[in-house]
Amino acid sequence: MIYFDYAATTPILPEVKNVFIDTLEQFGNPSSVHLYGRKSRVIVEEARAIIAELLSCEQNNIIFTSSATEAINLGITSICRSRNIKNIIFSPIEHAAMLRSIAFCSQSNNISTLELKINNLGNIDLDYLEKLLQTNANTLVCIMHANNEIGNLIPIKEIGKLCKTYNALFFCDMVQTMGKYNLALNKLPIDFAVGSAHKFYGPKGCGLFYITEDIDPLLFGGFQERNMRAGTENIPAIVATAKALEIIQQNLSTYMLHINEIKQYCITKLKNNFPDIVFVGNCENGGVYHIINFFLPNINSETLFMHLDMRGIAVSSGSACSSGSQHNSHVLQALGINKKSIRISFGKDNTFEEIDIFIHNLLQIYNAQNEKAL
Ligand code: PLP
Repeated sequence: MIYFDYAATTPILPEVKNVFIDTLEQFGNPSSVHLYGRKSRVIVEEARAIIAELLSCEQNNIIFTSSATEAINLGITSICRSRNIKNIIFSPIEHAAMLRSIAFCSQSNNISTLELKINNLGNIDLDYLEKLLQTNANTLVCIMHANNEIGNLIPIKEIGKLCKTYNALFFCDMVQTMGKYNLALNKLPIDFAVGSAHKFYGPKGCGLFYITEDIDPLLFGGFQERNMRAGTENIPAIVATAKALEIIQQNLSTYMLHINEIKQYCITKLKNNFPDIVFVGNCENGGVYHIINFFLPNINSETLFMHLDMRGIAVSSGSACSSGSQHNSHVLQALGINKKSIRISFGKDNTFEEIDIFIHNLLQIYNAQNEKAL
């Protein structure tokens, strides 16, 4: 089995799994005032302190949720309801959690939506963004740090500066970069950001919501998370998330170097073996170090995906959240590409040998399909 789908999710680290299991014993409710509760409160707050330090921010900047999807829904709903927002500027290549939250909240709060222009590599037209900001006050800007399908890295410093100049709020989806890059959140011109533990070898079911101002809750109930996210905290997931981020950050430069070498090796091999390969976005000469997106002319990507899967090689054709959908990816469509592609995304345990096996299998499938077509 070869796993090349680390942008969809990552396996939990053994140490993190142990911490998760051990913490299951800590059953006291962190909101209870007796000793059991106080113990649980301490470990939740210790985890928050670790995460805040690793991300260079304060503890009160971090809210725990059940996923990045929940954090996005919470943030967009709250900001739209309570910040006198009149416009939302967004890129067409945002994750479905962002696009659908924006669609719902703009309709229910009578807010205009302004879609950014991107070119056929997926790069955002920053002049157009500035023009929109100049002419539209009370604006929320929603742009991701890295795209989960094509791996484009977005210039968030420049975008954040523009937002500050024009007094707009900036909400950044950092799911594909948190735990993958050294992020000093308090040095970035960002008002809100989200991350997700299962993308950095942590458990499923723990989202990180970075806030610079308090927000109103989406879920009504108890006063957990300083009255911003009701519901008893998922203590094992929170503690395991802190552990995962800690381990990953400690080894980050080694992992980044290794994964980037794997990516470059794979690109070279793909180009050598399939001269007519088309890379999507700017993954060939830039983008994040863990994602490649491509298609091969003359062969349907779904067929490729299926045959690779039958041979035990897990890749993706579109984001995991939209798999099974009949529609082509909205990200590729925004780039003017009306077909499916293959996304391969790497993690710290991938090897050069796995790339060789992948290319060997890809060639066999490709040749067999082309022979069939003749
Ligand atoms: N945003 C991006 C860019 C993602 O890649 C994902 C997950 O695929 C999400 C948001 C949603 O994260 P979660 O699985 O924590 O809801």
